[in-house]
Amino acid sequence: MNNMNKRETQLILNELGIIPNKRLGQNFLFDKTIVKKIILESQISEDEVILEIGPGLGALTEELLKFSKKVYAYEIDFKLFQYLKDKFSQIENIEVINEDILKANIPPHNIIVSNIPYSITGPIFEKVFYNEKPPRGILIIENSIAERIFIQNKYKDFSRITVSFNAFMIPVKKYNISRLKFFPAPRIDLSLIIVKPRENLNPFLLSDKNRAFFLRFIAGIMPYKNKNIVNAISLFLKNEKVINFPKPKILQYLKNQNINNEKVTKFKVDELVKLSKLIFELIYESPSI
Ligand code: SAH
Repeated sequence: MNNMNKRETQLILNELGIIPNKRLGQNFLFDKTIVKKIILESQISEDEVILEIGPGLGALTEELLKFSKKVYAYEIDFKLFQYLKDKFSQIENIEVINEDILKANIPPHNIIVSNIPYSITGPIFEKVFYNEKPPRGILIIENSIAERIFIQNKYKDFSRITVSFNAFMIPVKKYNISRLKFFPAPRIDLSLIIVKPRENLNPFLLSDKNRAFFLRFIAGIMPYKNKNIVNAISLFLKNEKVINFPKPKILQYLKNQNINNEKVTKFKVDELVKLSKLIFELIYESPSI
């Protein structure tokens, strides 16, 4: 079963009676050069634990097993799960788990290596990377999302995912990948991205509660990224149903912290993390203001 090609992939799917499911983002990688590249770039060592999200027919899994201590492979599709259980029944360092990755209680791991279901990229990132101690990652994702993550100093192209991702992770490398290396070929362009955790995570992001607030804050202000920060914060607070913080109050509070009322896009990632902390403190920790 090694070195699957396109025909072979189609054949196995036929045998299993699987019609690739769009909702589950089923686009199976059949190109072995890409698999090799992923192994090479991932720099896995033999004592490392890997998380694979959506192993599918196991094109990647098969190679990952050879170079690591253990692979946890989460596959939501029961037929694929059964196929993988069977395929790797003689192999000891794999655990195939028939569970939705977004609902799973994932064991500790060093690195995530996956061609993920593209439609849930945002929720996957939130689950696996926006954490206190995120792992490294080497992933195939939608190219347009990869571009938003890899934006450097082009603040006007900043979006929610740019800020959230870069608060926790460092984008290292990005390669474009042809969609013709997958069956069925997806309608979107793809990229292989290599990412690693930041060492200097802002201490505010270390607690669950603060992290949840930061993510809500970014999701809340980025839709208004062309407005001034005070307007964006005011709209965020309105949507959060937080009352008693009229714009002049916010303006004055920021002024006291030496923050000017500039456009949201003028703020860098780390400045937005600090700002989320300040707003958190303003609304939850200053009863008298
Ligand atoms: N990694 C394989 C398959 C990619 S297709 C390859 O490269 O060939 C995406 C895979 O993710 C499919 O197998 C799909 O069933 C699985 N999947 C989709 N949503 C999932 C979820 N929420 N949790 C776990 N697996 C999921």
